[in-house]
Amino acid sequence: MSTRPQRLVILGSTGSVGTSTLDVVARHPGRFEVAGLSSNQRVDLLLEQCRRFQPRVVVLPTEERAAAVRAAVAELGLATEVRVGAQALCEMAAAEDVDSVMAAIVGAAGLPPCLAAARAGKRLLLANKEALVVGGALFMRAVAEGGATLLPIDSEHSAIFQCLPEDRSAWARRIDHIVLTASGGPFRTRDPETLHTVTPAQAVAHPNWVMGQKISVDSATMMNKALEVIEARWLFDLAPEQIKVVIHPQSIIHSMVVCRDGSVLAQLGTPDMKVPIAYGLSFPERIESGAPRLDFMSMRELSFEPPDARRFPGLQLATAALRGPLGSTAVLNAANEVAVAAFLAGTIGFTAIHSVNANTLEGLEPRLGADHRLDDLLELDRRARAFAQQLMKELR
Ligand code: NDP
Ligand code: MG
Repeated sequence: MSTRPQRLVILGSTGSVGTSTLDVVARHPGRFEVAGLSSNQRVDLLLEQCRRFQPRVVVLPTEERAAAVRAAVAELGLATEVRVGAQALCEMAAAEDVDSVMAAIVGAAGLPPCLAAARAGKRLLLANKEALVVGGALFMRAVAEGGATLLPIDSEHSAIFQCLPEDRSAWARRIDHIVLTASGGPFRTRDPETLHTVTPAQAVAHPNWVMGQKISVDSATMMNKALEVIEARWLFDLAPEQIKVVIHPQSIIHSMVVCRDGSVLAQLGTPDMKVPIAYGLSFPERIESGAPRLDFMSMRELSFEPPDARRFPGLQLATAALRGPLGSTAVLNAANEVAVAAFLAGTIGFTAIHSVNANTLEGLEPRLGADHRLDDLLELDRRARAFAQQLMKELR
């Protein structure tokens, strides 16, 4: 094994997963080299990361933000190159001397650099579930053709991955089905009749996990679990009926594999993303993550309940999208991204998120050919966003 540091790019380094990744990296001096970082709005935090980790390159979405970072980087005497735009993001993710890419951008915006990393055969640590929900077969084909190693970071998928043998060719023979656990979010016991009055601040206050705003709202609607069902379909090559969801409010069991012989394998831990992140970074080894340990003696109970379809209608949309025409999962994702953004901006109510998602999925025909490419998916994403925006205008 080579002893040189693993050269790592973090897409979305200023987010919740991005900062936790740098936290794990900082615990292992000499093991990782931060080769590249990217951010969107949090320029000050990116600069702080530049000072501490001295990446060779950083990417920002606009020339204005890049200019500010360039000036500050020069003042600090750093050699960091500051680049701009989606193409630069793809080039950073696919650069020849990069070993690993942590995909921690939120939303479909992360799909192009994920595909670039996959095609370049990188070790791809995937937190950005929307990229796989949109990319689907094209994404998995890029992984296979590029010879990339796809490592799930989403805690449920990391749990399933940790319960399976390293030899992927054995998975299909072993798995009867998988059980994704869900916390149920902040509204698990709230009267569904009152959900229309939920505010953004209430929706992002997750009981167990500290996460970015979009995924926090997704957890409150359980659209997060719908996206995760679709993500699991691709990561583990399963049929929709092989993916079950159970509510487990304590978030201690992160998911389970039910084997063909009835044996159930589970992965447990405190709800801290540093565990799946550390596993992705060190696979197949294990390194210190910095997460607090489970204390079995102080654990009162592990409980389970079925998801209530009236409270969480969004969960059903995963199966509808997986069984729908090709491209339906991309349509669902696009609708949900614009609906969640509108909810966070205060322009639609909490329960309207589901109406927008369901009606976009129902009303927009994806018309995606089996031989589609990235541009076709991006065009479909644009069409679905426009359709959902129009629906929201009508709702107001
Ligand atoms: P955050 O919102 O905290 O961070 C998102 C990151 O992406 C930030 O660095 C942000 O930049 C950047 N970003 C946002 N929009 C764009 C864009 N259009 N182009 C380029 N960069 C962009 O999200 P999380 O860290 O919570 O989540 C990241 C991904 O990981 C999501 O797909 C989420 O579903 C998934 N995930 C997250 C978990 C968690 O615990 N947080 C758990 C499991 C999965 P900036 O901050 O500078 O604006
Ligand atoms: Mg998850």
